[in-house]
Amino acid sequence: MPLTHEVDDSRLGAHGESRGRHHDLVHQRVHQWLQADSEPPGWTAQQQATWPASASTLIAGDRGALLVDALLTTTEGERLAGWVKSWGKNLSTIYITHGHGDHFFGAGPSLDAFPQAQLVTLPEVVDDAREQQSPEALATWNSWFKGQFDEKSATPTALISDEPEIDGHVVRFIGLGGSDGVDNTVVRVPELSTVVSGDVVYNNLHMWLWNSTPESRAEWLATLDALAALRPEKIITGRRDPDAPNDDAQRVLAQSRRYIEDFDTAVTRSGSVVQLVDATTQRYSAYGNPYGLLAAAATRFES
Ligand SMILES: [Zn+2]
Repeated sequence: MPLTHEVDDSRLGAHGESRGRHHDLVHQRVHQWLQADSEPPGWTAQQQATWPASASTLIAGDRGALLVDALLTTTEGERLAGWVKSWGKNLSTIYITHGHGDHFFGAGPSLDAFPQAQLVTLPEVVDDAREQQSPEALATWNSWFKGQFDEKSATPTALISDEPEIDGHVVRFIGLGGSDGVDNTVVRVPELSTVVSGDVVYNNLHMWLWNSTPESRAEWLATLDALAALRPEKIITGRRDPDAPNDDAQRVLAQSRRYIEDFDTAVTRSGSVVQLVDATTQRYSAYGNPYGLLAAAATRFES
């Protein structure tokens, strides 16, 4: 029955992958941290720049399946394709929650493994995805992950239906507005009261507020309100500390809201990158990916 939940927390090593919560219909796979090519000033060898641990989700019926988000590097993409194949389903769709390259540059191996699968997203996301493949955006990605990702990846195309069915199970793609990007969408699985949120919600990680503004942070808070109004019980976040305790919707919504509000306050009270990082770290010392905070603080104080 699709409402029973199975948990498999087996680990495959520090830079391997972990298999997160398993449900009969919804399967989550949390990928471990990527090391980013960046040496923040003042950091020690123990403080490496990392890209946040990320989740891909397979929504699988008896025969068909839909994959949500396809990661960044070619190595991640190959592991992801192997994981999808291990379920023995007929993958028809790879859905991209938003246009950021770290959600679809890694789709190639899954598209190779399932030639019939379509790489898709909602219409409002397509231009964002195309922009990520521009020389300017690729230069930014190369500054972190040169040679590790497919610079000529397929571009997601616009969906015709936002209510597909997987072997009779209804799935809904819902545009919610801005969060870490301009147009972010989520995937809702009504029968499980579950939402796969992409980067709208974070689970025990510093949030990606790089280049954020008071306006963009206010928009992100409104997007969290719109997601809360869907009343999910579980939220599978695209960003997740592999050791996060659960996928409880109220907990991750509350923590994401509080983090943005606290960062907003800290920005107004801080006069430097160091002050902003220290103020936020004091409140969120247990959160993973401090590099995300440093990157956000640095863009705040760029002239
Ligand atoms: Zn994103």
